[in-house]
Order: sequence, then structure tokens, then C-alpha cells
Amino acid sequence: MFRTRRTRHTATVEAVTAIAPRLARVTLGGPGMSAFHCDEPTQWVKLFVTDPLDGRTVGRAYTVRRMHPSAPRMDVDIVLHGNGPAARWAEAVRPGQEVSFGGPRGSFRPDPDAGYYLLAGDESAQPAVLTIAENLPAGLRGAVYLEVPGPEAEIEVALPDGLDVVWVHRAGRVKGEALRDAVLKAPVPQERVAAWAAGESGAVRDIRRHFLEGLGLDRHRAYAKGYWKRDEADHRDPLASD
Ligand SMILES: Cc1cc2nc3c(=O)[nH]c(=O)nc-3n(C[C@H](O)[C@H](O)[C@H](O)COP(=O)(O)OP(=O)(O)OC[C@H]3O[C@@H](n4cnc5c(N)ncnc54)[C@H](O)[C@@H]3O)c2cc1C
Repeated sequence: MFRTRRTRHTATVEAVTAIAPRLARVTLGGPGMSAFHCDEPTQWVKLFVTDPLDGRTVGRAYTVRRMHPSAPRMDVDIVLHGNGPAARWAEAVRPGQEVSFGGPRGSFRPDPDAGYYLLAGDESAQPAVLTIAENLPAGLRGAVYLEVPGPEAEIEVALPDGLDVVWVHRAGRVKGEALRDAVLKAPVPQERVAAWAAGESGAVRDIRRHFLEGLGLDRHRAYAKGYWKRDEADHRDPLASD
């Protein structure tokens, strides 16, 4: 079917579930999604949400965490950081409400030559990281670094054999710092490494540099994207193309 990246869909909120203390899973479905297809890890949509504070409608990027087998239906996991229109919308939204969205955009294809994957993200990138990890080819090894506030925010994950999850506890530090420090110290094999990271823009910049200069990875093996930026609304990462 012909699709453009500007295609708009209207979905109904079917459920809102707290999957961690500050992470809401919003399940979207309904006939308005019948033309929506999403089949690659990290794909994302732009949700057009109305800020409960001032009634303004804004567009914000959210990863498709999962398409349900009984599609059209999908989960998006939204960080309740409390400080922006989309976070406020997710905190207030209830089943039965409608929301429109565009997409999907983005893509991820595993590097066919990689033997080891280093994946990293904060809560905003946890959905994307997990879609990658869950879909890596059998036999690959790797490590998945996920920053969360503390042990109470760790969620159940079911990953292929060979992938280790490392929960990085923020423990009150500024978002992104603990992840950056952990990734910079992460042991990796000498060869056939590929890496993917997303999260707070400043932390991701340091992680990108580590991938390229510290680990010496080729650019096509080292993806790193700022998904949001401290003290900046609706941040767009200038280095990312999708
Ligand atoms: C491709 C892509 C996929 C993404 N997928 C997801 C996803 O699946 N789940 C998800 O939760 N986010 C995801 N994000 C990040 C999300 O789009 C941003 O966090 C967005 O800024 C949230 O919009 P907002 O209206 O809540 O805040 P904004 O209006 O954009 O920002 C307002 C303030 O909130 C701060 N802020 C924004 N995000 C955060 C945060 N996570 N933690 C703390 N402070 C923040 C900003 O620094 C700013 O000061 C994704 C981003 C991209 C580019």
C-alpha cells in the first residue's frame, strides 16, 4: 500500500497502564488506525496531543513499543517527566479519548557483520532499545544499558539469549550522566561491534564520541541520537537524519 510519511491517523486511547512509577503505557487502537503499519524496530510516530494546561496542540515523537497481533493496535510508553505538553497529556489521558498521529518514521536494520551489539538509552529511549534487542538475530551477543531512576523503575524484559541487561540507576543524578558513565566503561569485544544509543542530547553527544573515538567504530556502525534536550522544548537532533 502507498504510504507517505505525512499520513495522519486517528486513534482511540484503549488503555493507560503504569508500567513503572513515571512511565505510562498508552494503548492506541480503533478503525482510524486501519491504514497504519509498523514492522521495524525503533519506528516512531508523531503524536498530536493537546496540553491539558493551556489547550495548545503540539506534535511529539514517540516510539511504537509494540504492535499487538490483534492490530490495528499499538503501545507507546511515555515518560511522565511532568514538564511538557506531551508528558502532561499522558498523565491526564483516559480510555475513550481520541488522538491523531503521523508516521511511522525511522528504521533499524541490524548490521549483518556485527557479532556484538552495545545498546543504550534512558527511559525515553527504553522502548526503542527494547524493540532492537528483542529483534536482533539469534546468536548475536550484546549488552543493553538502560538508565532508570532506581530499582523500582526496572521492568520485566524478555530478550534473546546472549543479550545482558544492565540497569543503570540514576540515584538522584542529572538524567543521562549515569548512562554516559556506564557506557564509557562498558567492556566490549575487540571486533565486530555495532552500537546504538539515544536519550538526553548532551549525554548522547558524549556517547557518540565514545563510539567513534573511544571504540573506534565506523560511523555506519555507531548510531546515537538525542531524543530530548535538557531545558529545551521539542528538541530536534541536528545530527540525526530520521
Ligand atoms: C525518534 C524519537 C522517539 C522517541 N520515543 C520516545 C518514547 O517512546 N517515549 C518517550 O517518553 N519519549 C520518547 N521520545 C522523546 C520525546 O519525544 C521527548 O521527550 C519530548 O520532548 C517530550 O515532549 P514534552 O511535550 O513532554 O516536552 P517538551 O515540550 O518537548 O519539553 C519541555 C521540557 O521538558 C523537558 N523534557 C523533555 N523530555 C524529557 C524527558 N524524557 N525527561 C525529562 N525532561 C524532559 C525538556 O528538556 C524541556 O525542558 C522520542 C524522541 C524521538 C526523537
